[in-house]
Amino acid sequence: MADGADRNGDLKALVRTIPDFPKPGIQFRDITTLLLDPAGFAASVERLAAMADGPIDAIAGIEARGFVFGAALARELNAGLVLVRKRGKLPGKTLSEDYLLEYGSDSLEMHHDAIPQGARILLVDDLLATGGTAMAAVRLLRGAGAVVGQSLFVIDLPDLGGAAKLREAGVSVDSLVEFEGD
Ligand code: AMP
Repeated sequence: MADGADRNGDLKALVRTIPDFPKPGIQFRDITTLLLDPAGFAASVERLAAMADGPIDAIAGIEARGFVFGAALARELNAGLVLVRKRGKLPGKTLSEDYLLEYGSDSLEMHHDAIPQGARILLVDDLLATGGTAMAAVRLLRGAGAVVGQSLFVIDLPDLGGAAKLREAGVSVDSLVEFEGD
């Protein structure tokens, strides 16, 4: 949201920025400092929950930091939690969706029977950058029969265009704070 950075300035101040991680030129937005602050973490979850739009059956959290916020949000909204995991982690039969990284590709997976057809899913991750990860999660969930209408992020980097991609795909995007640049 355009004015989210101002409205949630208290939360933005709890996000630590580590330059040049994992490689030169990247400003890593580190939410571990936010998680260490009980009031900040609680406020993050409450404000994300307040942005949830309409009835949902489950939250889908993206590994790994999406699990932290996704799990807390699932409790807050009394919804189930679907784990969208990196390749090779889930023990049961999986569905899989590839996505491109800067160098090479990766996959997201979920259990093939994690959700019933038509389940209304709210997608959650800590940070939205180019949207490659979130879009792969949307394809994966829709391929499994889910209805994915909304995504929530603690942080959006709007200059990287992820929110625009998700909205084009019919998924609304809300976030608590924004950082300019990448
Ligand atoms: P993307 O697929 O480009 O939207 O990247 C989103 C995923 O990568 C999320 O799961 C984030 O946790 C992680 N990520 C990307 N860029 C950053 C960044 N600058 N700081 C922290 N995490 C990031």
